[in-house]
Amino acid sequence: MSNIKSEILRPITEPEKEKNLPQVRVPFLDLKINSEMKRNELLESIDIVFQHGIFIMGPEVGQFEEEVAKYTNRNFAIGVGSGSDALLLTLMALGIGEGDEVITTSLSWIATANAIRLTGATPVFADIKEDLNIDPESVDKLITSKTKAILPVDYTGRIADMTALTEISKSKSIFLIEDASQAFGAKKNGKTAGSFGNISCISLNSMKVFASIGEAGVILTDDESLYERLKILRYNGMIDKEKCVQPSLNCRLDTVQAAVLLKRLPYVDEIVGKRREIGKFFNKELNKYVKVPWEERNVQNAYYVYTIQTKQRNELLKYLLSSGVEAKIRDPILMPEQEAYSEFASDQYPLAKKLVNDLLCLPCNETMNLSQSKYVVDKVKEFFNN
Ligand SMILES: *Cc1c(COP(=O)(O)O)cnc(C)c1O
Repeated sequence: MSNIKSEILRPITEPEKEKNLPQVRVPFLDLKINSEMKRNELLESIDIVFQHGIFIMGPEVGQFEEEVAKYTNRNFAIGVGSGSDALLLTLMALGIGEGDEVITTSLSWIATANAIRLTGATPVFADIKEDLNIDPESVDKLITSKTKAILPVDYTGRIADMTALTEISKSKSIFLIEDASQAFGAKKNGKTAGSFGNISCISLNSMKVFASIGEAGVILTDDESLYERLKILRYNGMIDKEKCVQPSLNCRLDTVQAAVLLKRLPYVDEIVGKRREIGKFFNKELNKYVKVPWEERNVQNAYYVYTIQTKQRNELLKYLLSSGVEAKIRDPILMPEQEAYSEFASDQYPLAKKLVNDLLCLPCNETMNLSQSKYVVDKVKEFFNN
C-alpha cells in the first residue's frame, strides 16, 4: 500500500531531471484536486453514492442528464461511458453502417474517425480552414449519393462553421452530428457548443474542460425518437430486462462520474472564463510572432487547447521545453494519414496537410497564475527575438 502511494506521489518532474531538462515551471495541465473546498465538495457527493449504493444508473445519472440538457439548451441528454461511446452510439442510432459515407474533418483526435469506421461506414475526410475547423466548401464537394452525415468537430474548443454546415445538411437532407468534445462551454452567436445539428457528442474525460474524474461522455439531441433509441443502444440493445432488439454494447455512465459532473457543471463558465482571460492575453501578446486562435465577434472559445501556428514549430517547442514551459504537439498526424486509415487517404485536404506541421499547444488553463502566463509569453517572445 505505502509503495503504491509513494509511486503515485512521485513528483512529475522526476523524468525531466533524468533527461537534464529544467523543472517544469508551467505544466501543460495539472489535474490534481488540491483546493480543500473543491475536494470536500466532490468527496461529499461521492460519499452519497457510497451510502445509497446504486453504482449503476443511480439517481445522479438522471439529474446530471437533466442539468446538462438545460445547460446546452437541448431537450434530451444521455449519459454514456465516454466520448467514443457517444460517437459510436450516435452513428448506430442514425442507422449508419456499411455502404454509407460520413464526411468528417481530417484533423481531430482519432476517436472521431474510429466511430465512423466501427459502424462499417466509410469515413470521407474533408479539408480544414485557417481556424483548424472543417471547411464547408470542402464538405460540399465531397457529398455523394451515399453521404449520410457530416461530422464536424469543434476543434481546440472553437465551434465549427455551424451556419454553413447546417445549411448543407438541410439542403441535402443528411444528418449533422456535432463532436463538441473539446468545446463544452464555448459559445457562438448566443448558442452553446452541444446545441448544434441533429445530435451532439461530448467527451467528459478528465482532460476536457468539463471533466469527470476518469472516463465519461454525453449525447445531446432534441429528437425524442433518437433519444429513445439511444437509451436502448446504451445498454446492449435491451428494451427492458428481457428483450434485445439490436446488438450493442454496455455504454452506461457510472453514477460516481455523474455525481462528480453534477458538482462541476456550475463551475464550467468560471473555468472557461479563466481560460479565455489567459487566451486573450496570449492572443494580444503573441499575434505579432505566431498565428493565434483569435475570437471573432459574438464568439467565445473554450480554449480546450490553446493552439498557435508557426513555421518554426519544432524549434519553438524545444526552446519552450528547455525553459520549463510544457508546450505540446497534439494530433501530430492527420486522421486519414494514420496507418489504420491508409485506404482513405486522399488529396482532398491540402491545407490540413500543410497546417498540421505548424501546430503547437501552449499551456492555457484555469490553474495557471498570472506570473505563469507572463512567463509563457516572455519565453515565446524571447525565442523569436533572438
Ligand atoms: C476526447 C475526444 C474524443 C473521445 O472522447 P473519449 O471520452 O476519450 O472517448 C472524441 N472526439 C474528440 C474531438 C475528442 O477531443
